[in-house]
Amino acid sequence: MHKITLIPGDGIGPEVTEAAVKVLDAAGANIDWDVQYAGDCMYQKCGNPLPEETLASIEKNGVAFKGPLTTPVGTGFRSVNVAMRKHFDLYVNLRPAKTYPGVYSRYDNIDLVVVRENTEDLYAGIEHMVGPDAAESIKIFTRKGCERIIRWAFEYAIKEGRKKVTAVHKANIMKCTDGMYLDIFRQIAPEYPQIEAEDVIADAMSMRLVYAPEEYDVLVMPNLYGDILSDLCAGLVGGLGIAPGANIGEKIALFEPIHGTAPTIVGQGIANPTATILSSCLMLKHIGEQAKGDMIEQAVAKVIKDGKTVTVDLGGTASTMEFANAVIAEIK
Ligand code: ATP
Repeated sequence: MHKITLIPGDGIGPEVTEAAVKVLDAAGANIDWDVQYAGDCMYQKCGNPLPEETLASIEKNGVAFKGPLTTPVGTGFRSVNVAMRKHFDLYVNLRPAKTYPGVYSRYDNIDLVVVRENTEDLYAGIEHMVGPDAAESIKIFTRKGCERIIRWAFEYAIKEGRKKVTAVHKANIMKCTDGMYLDIFRQIAPEYPQIEAEDVIADAMSMRLVYAPEEYDVLVMPNLYGDILSDLCAGLVGGLGIAPGANIGEKIALFEPIHGTAPTIVGQGIANPTATILSSCLMLKHIGEQAKGDMIEQAVAKVIKDGKTVTVDLGGTASTMEFANAVIAEIK
């Protein structure tokens, strides 16, 4: 029995996580859920969007599964997602992008994974005004931060039977920060002779991804490029409703869809749970239940390909739960 923290989240979060939990149960995943709360629901209830009990539960269980959380824009509390990543030092943001027949996309053969560094770069949030008319933001790269994300990407490639790791950088312009990152990539790559290693400048990478995405396998990149290019990759394969994600550290891993709370469709029961269900497949792999994860992913792919019971965003009329039930019917 695996004890896992479940955070339903805000907006469509409770709807899509409920659907995913039902699918996991049907697949026989042996999970004892420790339900905890975070986000706007807790901010409204007790003024703290990230309660101690929630943090303690994740710390204890080591694995968490969550729905999206509200991040107020401009005012209110700071991003709880970012706070969790910082608190647990979840330095890997893993974002697979894969084409599924039945999901509208301009491409039909993409199967790549973005490994985004999650803790450094301009996201360290060290910014200040320099007088009234200028502002400065500090871009932080450390040897430890670069080494661990690059090594993680190579280890992941080996574990997953992937062939190539591409480092994305802008070392031609930022010779210190991105230059160090590229040097470290070139030092580490020869330790993995079975994996092809290449490096591409971020702007050229954007063009290449749109032009020939099928050429890419594992992409490893600093935080800012990762933020932008992983959304680009989600767009390449048909958008947010199907894009899963994971945030992983040495001791703790947190699995979640990459989409937000989708306030415009909350409470209607029409959200697409695919991204959340596929995030649960990443989680099953992480806890050593790969076969069950593969089974669920194949069932999702089949339901989407058939196209008869898909949600509105995929051109169908099915509700969130009707979709989940169709996936369950494929599993059984
Ligand atoms: P937030 O403020 O939490 O980021 P948002 O609505 O601005 O929320 P997203 O939720 O990421 O941003 O998504 C933008 C739009 O994409 C949503 O308004 C919704 O129409 C659509 N969308 C996102 N996720 C889903 C989903 N799981 N199922 C169906 N549509 C979705």
